[in-house]
Amino acid sequence: SVLETTNVGKVSWGTFAELKDCVELLEFYAGVAATDAGETRTLPGGHLGLVVKHPVGVCAQIVPWNYPAMLAMWKIAPALAAGCTIVLKPSELTPVTAFAFAELAKEAGIPDGVLNVVNGYGNEVGQALVEHPGVDKVAFTGGTATGKQIMTTAAKTLKRVTLELGGKSAGIVFEDSDYEAALAGTLFGIYYSAGQSCEARSRLLIQRSIYDKFVADFAAKAQKIKVGNPMEKTTQMGSLISLQRVTIVHGYVEQGIAEGAVLACGGKALTGGEYGNGAFYAPTLLANVDNAMAVAQEEIFGPVAVAIPFDTEEDAIRIANDSKYGLAGTVWTTNGARALRVAQAVRTGLMGVNTIMTGQTGMPFGGFKESGFGRELAIDTLNLYTETKSIEYYTGAKPLNPFGL
Ligand code: NDP
Repeated sequence: SVLETTNVGKVSWGTFAELKDCVELLEFYAGVAATDAGETRTLPGGHLGLVVKHPVGVCAQIVPWNYPAMLAMWKIAPALAAGCTIVLKPSELTPVTAFAFAELAKEAGIPDGVLNVVNGYGNEVGQALVEHPGVDKVAFTGGTATGKQIMTTAAKTLKRVTLELGGKSAGIVFEDSDYEAALAGTLFGIYYSAGQSCEARSRLLIQRSIYDKFVADFAAKAQKIKVGNPMEKTTQMGSLISLQRVTIVHGYVEQGIAEGAVLACGGKALTGGEYGNGAFYAPTLLANVDNAMAVAQEEIFGPVAVAIPFDTEEDAIRIANDSKYGLAGTVWTTNGARALRVAQAVRTGLMGVNTIMTGQTGMPFGGFKESGFGRELAIDTLNLYTETKSIEYYTGAKPLNPFGL
């Protein structure tokens, strides 16, 4: 986790948990692979049908910088379990743990050529992998714009493609929620990983009757989040990936304010003192946000939450769905029937009910709409790394002779 924290700048207790997930995932897919029994069918005319799975082949796996090790393992583990070979391209911003994985794979006895790691910028090396006729499948996690470009390029050779892209997920807080649990969850849901998560609950939809109090309490707690050296155990939020990202994030905050949002807390880069010249940004909340604003529609990918009021359940669902993205979300309520109604009505690939801990091993992870397609972390994920073959076996005693010649 020291290596990963150095790689990405996130808190070390977080990267430790992410690496633990990597181990769990390898064990999970080792078990899943062992259960792959194929299918047999009794067919008419003396035939026996066998449905078998073949590895899809060479997989280019292109992963981003926000969870460098964990997102790499989300792709490596099922591909290995399916019998594929891998060319993994980490982001040039965070190549360190991918190479550690390659060394560990060698040490573990994985044959040379099975797990390959290549460096290089996305628009050069990534692009070359997507174009290469020897690559059978591209699995990508990253921005939606890059995902679209990859899909277009991959179409030229009809590669199999899975895309896990961006999100602008809603945390929907009803007046009948467990207030303290909703506060704690919504804070963690945006500020874990400094908001650089595809599944971050970056849009807070808060019922109007509790809106003002929730915004005030959220902002008060957000200001208490300890931002700083990610190696310190007591640090709750580390740095952003780069100074360039700080500039992008701050640009969004300024745009939001210019469009009429109210800054409830944060809204500035943290520099000097213990922050030095690091890429630190204060946990930020923009209130009085309208869902049509850019800060509510675009993925900021930083520690910035926007708070939008709603009146009724229908209203909340409508606003949650008014997004090009459809990755995740959470509904906070103590009304069980409402929880299930809302969880089913929001058009996203995953929904939490009174939790932001979605994305656990075994539960399909992936998006609706422009958040991509294909599901990771699940048993079914193996289907995305295999081709299905039908073998029809003639078992009759007399030779088949349809022409009668
Ligand atoms: P990108 O989508 O550009 O990068 C993700 C990965 O794709 C990196 O390994 C990158 O390589 C590679 N890549 C970039 N361009 C190409 C290409 N043309 N062909 C093949 N591979 C390519 O993300 P950015 O870092 O530019 O971030 C842009 C936005 O994407 C963020 O603001 C955020 O909104 C979103 N994002 C979403 C993530 C998610 O988890 N869903 C993760 C990261 C970003 P390299 O970095 O080496 O150039």
